[in-house]
Amino acid sequence: MAEQYPKQIAVFCDECGTDEVHDYMVSEDDDQETRLGYARKYLAEEKGWLIQDNLDLCPECSFC
Ligand SMILES: [Zn+2]
Repeated sequence: MAEQYPKQIAVFCDECGTDEVHDYMVSEDDDQETRLGYARKYLAEEKGWLIQDNLDLCPECSFC
């Protein structure tokens, strides 16, 4: 079982460039893409971000 620890991850809006930074529990086995996936999933579910395959939009931009 890989060790888990909190890591600060930033997601940037592709439209306006604003970023949202939170601590996420990651595993030492996770690669960078997997870790970013945790952050994007959280923002989509909890913060109203629009997250698509190659597009991250903050709540303000996603309503445009
Ligand atoms: Zn934005």
